[in-house]
Amino acid sequence: MREILFLKPVFKEMIWGGTRLKTDFHYEIPSNNTGECWAISAHQNGDCEIINGSYKGYKLSKLWSEHREIFGDINQEVFPLLVKIIDAKDDLSIQVHPDDTYAKENENGALGKTECWYILDCDEDASIVIGHHAKSKDELRKMISNNAWSNLIRILPIKKGDFFQIEPGTVHAIKKGTLILETQQNSDITYRLYDYGRLQNGKPRELHLNKSIDVIHCPHNDIQINRDKTEYPNAMKEHLVTCPYYTVNKIEINGKQEFTQEEPFTLISVIEGDGEIDGTEIHKGDHFIIPSNYGTYQLTGKLQLIVSHV
Ligand code: ZN
Repeated sequence: MREILFLKPVFKEMIWGGTRLKTDFHYEIPSNNTGECWAISAHQNGDCEIINGSYKGYKLSKLWSEHREIFGDINQEVFPLLVKIIDAKDDLSIQVHPDDTYAKENENGALGKTECWYILDCDEDASIVIGHHAKSKDELRKMISNNAWSNLIRILPIKKGDFFQIEPGTVHAIKKGTLILETQQNSDITYRLYDYGRLQNGKPRELHLNKSIDVIHCPHNDIQINRDKTEYPNAMKEHLVTCPYYTVNKIEINGKQEFTQEEPFTLISVIEGDGEIDGTEIHKGDHFIIPSNYGTYQLTGKLQLIVSHV
């Protein structure tokens, strides 16, 4: 198919959300507490609509069910990926995700969740939670029951352009003043470990301590990221991660550069700049899918893209 599929994002209001999806990305957001833009999603909690071409008006989940040839006929029940932009005006709760095996057994056959974060922007003193300092499950249990959160939780400073891979079993949280592009498995299973003792409508939000302890890896193990670069005449590709669920690259375009579609399908998010793809204008905040067998495509302009495939 020689048609690029553009999508309409779905927005989620969150107590920790802000206004940067409007001020930085020019989206129409539902309120001043908008936390998430589900940019490429076929999940039932936020199923994006195709906004152009032959399949205009289709939900991505329907296109996946009825026209699998667009996605290289890959054999998976649900669309495998979900791309979000997250605006954290306040700290998110500290959480952990199960892997596929644990989720299948304990969450009615759901998928586990591996995710990765590209830091689009952040405050000068911003930080992020990745990992913990317990050396064993026993120590983890003890520290949790003693409320030793500040000794347990591992906090790292971050800057714009940083990238993190979050495997299942990794304690993690986005902290305030951070704008992130997240690429993840299509799953919504999250165990909340700690919520800073905050109250919502006078009550603490539910924690999932036993499930968290079940799935947290001890000791924590960082995923090493090697950002290998490939130079093209008018572009630069930086490989961010490859794992069993996805490959994510950052591509910078400076001028005119041709690429060939060799994947079952490719997801592209414009995170900076303006330009064109095969003569169609694209801007910061646009998200689209290049279908299977599309052939070559030409990107022009000055663009920064996050590009992923299965
Ligand atoms: Zn997460």
